[in-house]
This record gives sequence, structure tokens and C-alpha cells, in this order.
Amino acid sequence: MKTTRQEVMDWGLHFMNEIGTDEICSVCISYGGSCCSGCKHLADGVGCQSRNTSCTSWLCGYLLFIFHETGLLYDWNEFWEQVPGKAYRQDSTPHELDIENWLGTRDLRRLTALFSKDLEELVQTDRQYYVVRLNDLLYRYISAAYAISPLDQNSVNSLNRKLHRLTKGFQRYHTFKKHHIR
Ligand code: SF4
Ligand code: SF4
Repeated sequence: MKTTRQEVMDWGLHFMNEIGTDEICSVCISYGGSCCSGCKHLADGVGCQSRNTSCTSWLCGYLLFIFHETGLLYDWNEFWEQVPGKAYRQDSTPHELDIENWLGTRDLRRLTALFSKDLEELVQTDRQYYVVRLNDLLYRYISAAYAISPLDQNSVNSLNRKLHRLTKGFQRYHTFKKHHIR
């Protein structure tokens, strides 16, 4: 299906909105953990002045964790593989492009709201660890595991054990997920 670069980015932002990632970002940013930090396209108090397909598709460790745990990560990655020209904080994606497979949105706002609450509480105990280090560890473990394709069940189990250990303080999140999310 023919679409445009702008429509793909609008769709990506809508998808994130349904997941509820803005709540997590809001906690992260208020404690100094923004992934936009130092970018020349960031206007103080206004936000990004050069939205691009690369940043729209990119997931930090916290978001990789949520996407992995809710079974969305493969599909999300596959969707963005259809979009050419992604680069670091910019893109050369053509104005018009073909997308074969769109991805259905999922409303995970209750889950992400609880993750944000847990994060906000944990940040009080160790700001540097919970805003920077943990995000980085989650990013490294999950992206390394998904770089190996196909991801077999033993690797998934091993990854899940590490993730569970790292995120055991996120009790509201884990309790809600266990009872309400498959
Ligand atoms: S690092 Fe993650 S949680 Fe923080 S602002 Fe960026 S995308 Fe949001
Ligand atoms: S280009 Fe990317 S990193 Fe830079 S401000 Fe925009 S979203 Fe943030």
C-alpha cells in the first residue's frame, strides 16, 4: 500500500500513544533521562523540531522491555524494516513509500501507567541507576537477544530470567501484567 513518510510517523506516534509510552517518558525526562538530550533538533520547552522515521521507530531499554513483554517487539521491528533511510536522529526516508503490513495498535495505557508509578518510586531510591543504568542494561540485553534470529525458546527463557531479576522492583507493573496481559 502506498503511503507517505509523514503518515508513517503519524502512525508511529499514534501507536506509542495507545501503548502509553508518554507516561514513562514523562517520569524519565523529569529525572533527567531524556534520550533527546544533546540533540541539535531539541528546542528547550518545545520538543523535537525535526521529527524523523529513525527516532519514531527507536525504543529505549524501558520501551524495549514493555514491547518484549507484551509480544509486540518482533512485529514492531518488522514494521520498521519496511521503512528505508533510517539513520541516527535523522532520515533519508522518501516522501512516498510502500508499506505491505501495518501493525494493529494495542491499548496498554493501564500497564504503562503502573510501570511509570513504579519507576517514579524506584528513582527516589537510586536516581542514577533507575534513570540511566537500568534503561541501558535493558537496552543491551534485549537488543542483543533480538539481534540473533530466530530467537529460540532457551534464549527467550534466559532473557526473561535476566529481565525479571532486573525489574523485580516494578511490583505494580508485574502484578497487573500477570493478571491482565497476555
Ligand atoms: S529514554 Fe526512553 S523513557 Fe526516556 S524519554 Fe527516551 S524514550 Fe522516553
Ligand atoms: S531528532 Fe530525535 S533525538 Fe533529536 S529531538 Fe527529535 S526525537 Fe529527539
